[in-house]
Amino acid sequence: MDSKFNKFKNKKEFVEEFKRRIIERYGRSIEEAHITEKYMVLGEMVRDYASVNWMDTKQVIKKQQKKEMYYFSMEFLIGRLLTNNLMNLGIYDIVKDGLADLGIDINAIEEMEADAGLGNGGLGRLAACFLDSLASLNLAGHGNCIRYQYGLFKQKIENNEQVEVPDVWLQYGNVWEVRKPKHACDIKFGGHVDMWFDENGKTVVNHIPSFVVRAVPYDVPVVGYDTRVTNTLRLWNAEIAPDFVTSDKLSKYVAEVDEITQNVYPDDSTEHGKLLRLKQEYFFVSAGINQIIRRHLRNYPNLDNLHEKIAIQLNDTHPVLCVPELMRVLLDDFGYDWDHAWYIVKNTIAYTNHTVMAEALEKWPVQYVKDLLPRVYMIIEEIDRRFRFEVLHSGHGDIINNVAIIRDGQVYMAHLAIVGSHSVNGVATLHTEILKNDVLKDFYMLYPEYFNNKTNGITHRRWLLYSNPQLTSLLKETIGADFIKQPQRLEDLMRHVDDPQLQQRFMEVKLERKQILADYIRRTLGIEVDVHSIFDAQAKRLHAYKRQLLNILHVIYLYLRMKEDPGFRIYPRTFIFSAKAAASYTFAKEVIKLIHCVADKVNNDPEISRYMKVVFIPNYNVSIAEILMNAADVSEQISTAGKEASGTGNMKYMMNGALTLGTMDGANVEIVERVGFENAEIFGLRVEDVDHLKQENAYNVWDYYNNHYEIKRVVDTLTDGTFSSDPNDFRVIYNELMFKNDEFYVLADFNAYKDAQERVQQRYQDKAGWARMCLVNIAKSGFFSSDRTIKQYAEEIWHIEPLEVK
Ligand SMILES: *Cc1c(COP(=O)(O)O)cnc(C)c1O
Repeated sequence: MDSKFNKFKNKKEFVEEFKRRIIERYGRSIEEAHITEKYMVLGEMVRDYASVNWMDTKQVIKKQQKKEMYYFSMEFLIGRLLTNNLMNLGIYDIVKDGLADLGIDINAIEEMEADAGLGNGGLGRLAACFLDSLASLNLAGHGNCIRYQYGLFKQKIENNEQVEVPDVWLQYGNVWEVRKPKHACDIKFGGHVDMWFDENGKTVVNHIPSFVVRAVPYDVPVVGYDTRVTNTLRLWNAEIAPDFVTSDKLSKYVAEVDEITQNVYPDDSTEHGKLLRLKQEYFFVSAGINQIIRRHLRNYPNLDNLHEKIAIQLNDTHPVLCVPELMRVLLDDFGYDWDHAWYIVKNTIAYTNHTVMAEALEKWPVQYVKDLLPRVYMIIEEIDRRFRFEVLHSGHGDIINNVAIIRDGQVYMAHLAIVGSHSVNGVATLHTEILKNDVLKDFYMLYPEYFNNKTNGITHRRWLLYSNPQLTSLLKETIGADFIKQPQRLEDLMRHVDDPQLQQRFMEVKLERKQILADYIRRTLGIEVDVHSIFDAQAKRLHAYKRQLLNILHVIYLYLRMKEDPGFRIYPRTFIFSAKAAASYTFAKEVIKLIHCVADKVNNDPEISRYMKVVFIPNYNVSIAEILMNAADVSEQISTAGKEASGTGNMKYMMNGALTLGTMDGANVEIVERVGFENAEIFGLRVEDVDHLKQENAYNVWDYYNNHYEIKRVVDTLTDGTFSSDPNDFRVIYNELMFKNDEFYVLADFNAYKDAQERVQQRYQDKAGWARMCLVNIAKSGFFSSDRTIKQYAEEIWHIEPLEVK
């Protein structure tokens, strides 16, 4: 690569190169080029600029024989990369000014980039934040995922209901990726396994597949902040393996191949959808492992030291087939004996648990795994057999059924993950405690030394520096720029939180961010919101346990009271929701409809709408989060205690100066631990209370309904036609609450939530006190930078050290 073409050290060089590339690429002048063409050429320039660093990073790793980490994740919720990459490379201002000279607004170009929505929510966003921190901390850490043809669906709202539309994010191609056909490999499915002994008595295994697909990698450079270290996010695309198919069967085969990398989380409510997901899991695991092995063997004579040079982190159980797949390669392809192979596998792989929700703990019918992955299944069986033996002979026979990997015709993926790795971590202190004492307590008894906590984090670069330049400037003026590289230094702000002038300037910055969000809401939804009202936001996936229902029921309560009592008025409030529901999740979709129906009533009531507005921002994604979080005054984190593993949305709001209105759940606990109860608004049942109610069978939703008039009034509106003329519209919600005994304690927490909301409105009216509280939150948010999280993983699990790329 000729680096002189890829450096634009100043504005003039940038402008020259940009003009030249537009002409070369499109045969048009700058004036004639379309905005999407300008975007693509700029993106390619930035990617090429990063390529030199990319090459040098690879060489340093090879020369210095550095250990590397691979983050295996089914999801990377990346969002846009242009601004992030320009900023991390330190060339944003050069490019912005150069474009301005050409009469081009950089913001308009930034808007051309499609969000890379390769994930559902928090878990995928965490993976993306981790990549940014890894590179920024000079650590060799790469991502391994699928190149989904379509991102998570786009959400539209029609007749107050969610409609899913395909997200064609690759419409104009992906400027960041480089196709690497030379690194392609074939992945085998189905068929049968032949085994025999060779002349030395060693087992020989031959898997004759019924289906072969070619995995072709697309590499995306991951650039760090103010460093030349550049890592790789490898996205695998499924393509036909030409030797495998005959032309008469081509079209059916092509369809079967394409399906594998078509969608994020294909609908798993059908037999067919489920198998497809298992195919996806093995596809990207097998391809990723294959690549790691091939690369390792280019640098080292054999695989004996694999665990010393490679760490693999499993983001939840989705990639857990890494365990049997790596075993398979070591046993079948390289002739290792079981114990040696097992030692290498266990010491390479580590597992992160993300949930305590029983229905989210992955398991697969034995028959699926057996049919689709016959050899891998044999290995899982052997892992299970040996593990059972070990447990029995360690005197814990009584727990065998709780910890077995294969039981009652199912493969328990979390159990396979724990048995096959050397580290099991939860994602917040409370979550890890729940794993140890409840969900995985039998494993904790067997292997206490495996268990550790790594509280999640967010990259403060994307979520503060780049998305909130107004606040960043104010912070720089107040405490200097040290916090940019050392987010813990935000703590320096503590010395200034009582400064009335700073308090006032903070409120001005917040107002500016609220105005930006208000403009977006007006432009896209036609709703006028009052920027002087309290911006109260709940933005996250729609789930019963996250309790958007509690929030909207409280809105209904306020509406009814204001309608009935002209003497009762609230401080003006804008309730902002944003959430996608899984396409097959009926309850969640009804909640979205309820929010819209309530919004219609409230926003169109001339009297009530002076005091509150209800806004649902469609299609929640990273780009929306970037303008929503930093405009919020109140951060709604109101999950049923014990259910939200960590949450990361909570951290984004905190870092941008919002009050957490939340339960003692997930990382909320650690937020309060840092800011103090006086700088948060905590309410509701604690984990112990919920456990107690459950154990004693002490919760009866009808008691709450009958004994609290306000609760009864609110619940009745679900079926009495107040918000919809069709009494069946919210029937599923009503039934979940009243006939399934309110599994998530919505009504049990209602009064506590209402009181907390009243305190919020009291506190907001003391502007200085409010600003001080927000400043304390910002000051204490450094801990939640994913730089801290990644340092802990690097030191305590991966044992990797910073690179020096000069
Ligand atoms: C941060 C983020 C999430 C996670 O939000 P939680 O409140 O932690 O569930 C989900 N989706 C997007 C787009 C995000 O940016």
